Amino acid sequence: MKITDVRAIQPVAENSPPDWRTTMGQILVAVDTDGGVTGYGVGGGGAAGVHVVNTVLRDLLLGRNPESVEDLWREMYFSTLPFGCKGLAIMAISGVDLALWDIRGRVAGEPVAVLLGGNIGDSIPVYVTVWDTISAAQVAEFGAFKLHVKRIESDEDLRSIGELVDASRRTAGPDAKLMVDAWMQWDLPTTLAVIRMIEQYDVTWIEEPLPVDDLAGYETLVGQSKIPIAGGEHEFTAAGFRPLIERRLHQVLQPDVCWCGGMTQLVEIYRMASAAGLQVCPHRGAEVWALHAIAALDQNPLAESGRPWMTWVGGQSSIEQGSVTLSDAPGFGIVIDETSLPV
Ligand SMILES: [Mg+2]
Repeated sequence: MKITDVRAIQPVAENSPPDWRTTMGQILVAVDTDGGVTGYGVGGGGAAGVHVVNTVLRDLLLGRNPESVEDLWREMYFSTLPFGCKGLAIMAISGVDLALWDIRGRVAGEPVAVLLGGNIGDSIPVYVTVWDTISAAQVAEFGAFKLHVKRIESDEDLRSIGELVDASRRTAGPDAKLMVDAWMQWDLPTTLAVIRMIEQYDVTWIEEPLPVDDLAGYETLVGQSKIPIAGGEHEFTAAGFRPLIERRLHQVLQPDVCWCGGMTQLVEIYRMASAAGLQVCPHRGAEVWALHAIAALDQNPLAESGRPWMTWVGGQSSIEQGSVTLSDAPGFGIVIDETSLPV
């Protein structure tokens, strides 16, 4: 089998926040083959990601055997190294890699989770990411919640986060998992002040409190924090995760399979984390790509709620009563209607 075309576009997602199309731009990648099978993946990088796929990666892949996924990953990585070993080019490679895994599954007639040694019948619990306050409907459905909190610029901001966590614990109940996501917006003293304020609320993790490259800050933080530290949604490739794992800078690792280099890298990150006894909880885990890895590789699976505006990917499993179950369709089990993509 040979690759006959590699195509990327950036669909418009109805109701998505502006950054999902611009700075965080999600792209759809299709890889066509002469066997009549087309594989689909989703990567990132917006217009720049589309350019990388449609030029450098397409030139590299035309005429190649799509089933040599790991070899092709290494070649794609080296071909884009001049762009940098993290960021946009790796986000673009992620979409191609996932499309190749989709082909691998479609050709085998098996879901990707089965190719990874797992099964697809288990129901996987989901935590819901909350941008304002936890609603009664969410409490009725979910047993785990993550609060997306903002930058702290004053004592009042700091107090408001304490009040939010206090109110959320009372709303969610004593048995619910409760997490806090700072999206890289704090510094070390601020994070330590937040921890002192909220450690009484049984918080499961604090996510990305510091900028991604502040490894010294994370080292100090994990040494002092009574709350586990999570991160990795803005880290790239297994090589990028290695120092986080070896130096134990995060207790919970959160690669985004559509950004970090695709399934080929997520599998390796799971392997390294498992060997180190660390938890992996992929970013947007209830979206179909990471869900196959969670179903196959995770001893204590927990999937983050997907983004409701990822509407152009058909065939995704819906979240029912706080959990999600994969379908038995081959590959990632997704359906893309190329004739009606909103671009
Ligand atoms: Mg996050």
